[in-house]
Amino acid sequence: MIKSHGYAARDKQSPLGSFDFERREVGPKDVLIDIQFCGVCHSDLHQVRDEWGGSIYPMVPGHEIVGRVAKVGAQVKKFKAGDLAGVGCMVDSCRECNSCREGEEQYCDRGQTVLTYNSRAKDGSPTYGGYSNNIVCDEAFVLKVSPKLNLAAVAPLLCAGITTYSPLRHWGVGEGQRVGVVGLGGLGHMALKFAHAFGAHVTQFTTSPGKEQDAIRLGAHEVVLTRDPANLAKLAGSFHFIIDTVSAPHDLNAYITMLRRNGHMVLVGAPEKPAPVAAFPLIMGRRSLAGSAIGGVRETQEMLDYCAEKNIVSDVELTPIQKINQAYERMVRNDVKYRFVIDMASLK
Ligand code: NAP
Ligand code: ZN
Ligand code: ZN
Repeated sequence: MIKSHGYAARDKQSPLGSFDFERREVGPKDVLIDIQFCGVCHSDLHQVRDEWGGSIYPMVPGHEIVGRVAKVGAQVKKFKAGDLAGVGCMVDSCRECNSCREGEEQYCDRGQTVLTYNSRAKDGSPTYGGYSNNIVCDEAFVLKVSPKLNLAAVAPLLCAGITTYSPLRHWGVGEGQRVGVVGLGGLGHMALKFAHAFGAHVTQFTTSPGKEQDAIRLGAHEVVLTRDPANLAKLAGSFHFIIDTVSAPHDLNAYITMLRRNGHMVLVGAPEKPAPVAAFPLIMGRRSLAGSAIGGVRETQEMLDYCAEKNIVSDVELTPIQKINQAYERMVRNDVKYRFVIDMASLK
């Protein structure tokens, strides 16, 4: 077994603390990565605090992982020791069903997507994520990372990046379209950058007056403060597409009403409680409400390559792992600009 060291949650109330554990030996198709940076996603916090239910403890969170390959198994083709590499939200799936074969392993038809942490590998053992010094992963789920970009700022692309890139691509967002981004956090700021890069006219919706200037700098053409309902009412029927990245319960109907005829509102934010949806705003205008989960391995690689080509990265604030609990408190207060990334050098 390989010795690992990281930070874990022992239960849903306690702060995260130092944790020693073991990972499997490097198998023939495995890659051992020395982790250099790991992004801090709101999903980490939801799961650490068991807000979605079913959390497995001890839990080592973290699914925005980048680092350097330390060792590869005998049959590994894509990587060699010394390469940069990334791991996102998944480490395995059935690989045989239609969704897996079509490169959408996150929607495995057999429900066998193995998540990077808070999940169970095929042998039943718990998976441990990236708030740690290393990870062992089958090369089929390891991404190639360009040396052109700032590595710490690449880490959040592995979840916040792909989770926003995928629905924008799936629904064909581009020039001539008006797009709304709801919530300016980790996912929101990436949605803003991608929608802007794809040529859309982008409106950022935020509850935080202090984020207006940043939203413009990040690519918004317009910023709307959502605490005043009149600001939303003025925009009825305006948008082709709205992506909602909000992590807490909020009213969806006001946003659905802002869609044009045939417009799509897509939820990527995952609040712990269900939201009431009125039928009439959907019926009138044939609008649709959908959801989207991360993105498959193939599309994640496409997104990373696109970012390397267009020089797109996350806006990050580096934190030592010892301050992870303070980072969580700031995330709950919507005070993240715009993604915390753990500098794993602090572990040593
Ligand atoms: P984050 O950085 O904390 O950003 C969330 C943003 O939502 C906040 O910055 C805030 O933006 C807004 N917000 C928070 N509470 C609000 C409230 N009560 N009413 C209105 N707006 C509020 O979180 P994140 O890491 O981007 O994650 C966002 C959500 O996406 C989480 O629920 C996460 O679990 C989920 N997620 C889903 C997937 C997927 O595959 N679908 C993948 C990753 C994450 P403003 O200050 O601008 O209002
Ligand atoms: Zn995430
Ligand atoms: Zn499958």
